[in-house]
Formats: sequence, structure tokens, C-alpha cells
Amino acid sequence: MITGAGRVRIGEDTVQLKFTVPEDACPPEALLPDVQALASQVAALAEERVRRVGRRISCKAGCGACCRQMVPISPAEARHLAALVDALPPERAAEIRKRFNEALATIEAASLPSRGNPDTEKPAYREFGLSYFRMGVACPFLEKESCSIHRDRPLVCREYLVTSPPAACAEPGSGQIRQVNIPVTVWSVFGRSVSADGSLEWMPLVEALRYAASDTKADRGKTGPERVAALLRELER
Ligand code: SF4
Repeated sequence: MITGAGRVRIGEDTVQLKFTVPEDACPPEALLPDVQALASQVAALAEERVRRVGRRISCKAGCGACCRQMVPISPAEARHLAALVDALPPERAAEIRKRFNEALATIEAASLPSRGNPDTEKPAYREFGLSYFRMGVACPFLEKESCSIHRDRPLVCREYLVTSPPAACAEPGSGQIRQVNIPVTVWSVFGRSVSADGSLEWMPLVEALRYAASDTKADRGKTGPERVAALLRELER
């Protein structure tokens, strides 16, 4: 393993970066622990900016109002989540897999519109997200309205913060949600940095286990430092 550290300016703020990655070829998800830390730092910056203008984040433990929304993740995050489930005790893993299967079956039976892409087809992406939400399908990791994988939750879950009442999150598209502006969305930066052509490959979280089971060839085309360099280039862009 090799460690590198530095600082990056995001607007008027400075974020500390630290990456510990394999020196040799590795899959993109080897970066995830440090990328998760970066996403959490960026979200904390956004939270601090909100506080400075006298507003408060209303998100808190026990409020899973947003956890029926469509959660976009990259293929690397899908493999990471599948590995998390594989590492659970067998009974627990079976329960989570069952929830994934049920959620996926419900979503697929609904014939949702084309999913679009957050970079290139925003209206379609938004419409897909709203249609998905109307299904009322809870995230398979949601338990008692709390996230059961909080420490390992997807990047985008770290970046969703609101100052509006929780009830507003139950009605996306109503115009009532006051979502906090995140200076840079790390989930999409990471997703672009690990794709072969820089485009943003993504899927709804409920597809993660199925995708990971069919993805038999791990992408080991780059070393850890090369992957960090690609991430930093994309972050700068
Ligand atoms: S992973 Fe956790 S925070 Fe994200 S939608 Fe699922 S339950 Fe909610």
C-alpha cells in the first residue's frame, strides 16, 4: 500500500485529502474508503455554510424519509455493496438479499420510463427518479427508518442534506424540498473517474447485487496511484 496526502481548494474552503491505495493494479473500489471520507468532508463543508447563514440541517438518525428515493451508484460502488452483503452473517445476508430481490421485482414490474443520465439527459434522469420514488420502495438497507450501513453508505447518501421539514422529502417534485447545495458531488466525480471513457455509468442501488453477480471480470487496469490521479483530474474538472 502507498499513502499520499494533500489539500484541495473547493470554493473558499480547503479540504484535506488522504489516500491509502495499493501500489499495484487494483479495482476502483480500492479507493472507496478514502473517497467516502472525502464525500463526508465535502458534505460537512456544505453543512457549515448552511449554519453560517443561520439555517439548520433537518436530517437526523431515525429519519429515513429520503431512503425511498432512487439512489444512484457507480458500478464500483455496486461491487462494494455486494461485498458488504457477502461479508454479513449468512442469515442476515439472506434477509438483505431477499429485500433486494423484492425491491428489484417491484421496480421492474412497474415499467418505469427511460432512466437517462445525470450528466447528459437530466430531464429523463429526473423523471425516472420521480417515477421510482412514487413506487414507495424502501432501500434494502433501511431499518426502523435508519440506515443499517451508515458507515458504508453510498456516496450520494452522504451528499443529500436538506433544511426543509422531513415531510417534504416524502414528496420529491413538489417544490417543497430545500436541498443543500453541495459544492462538488463526489459520487459523480468518482463515477466518471473510474469509467473507461469518462462518462458517468450508474445504476439504481437496488440493482447492485444483481450487477455484481454478473460482473465477473474485475477492472484491474490501473494502479492505485493512477486511479487517485484520475480522480483528482476529474475533481479539478
Ligand atoms: S444506503 Fe442507507 S442512507 Fe442510503 S438510501 Fe439506503 S438506507 Fe438510506
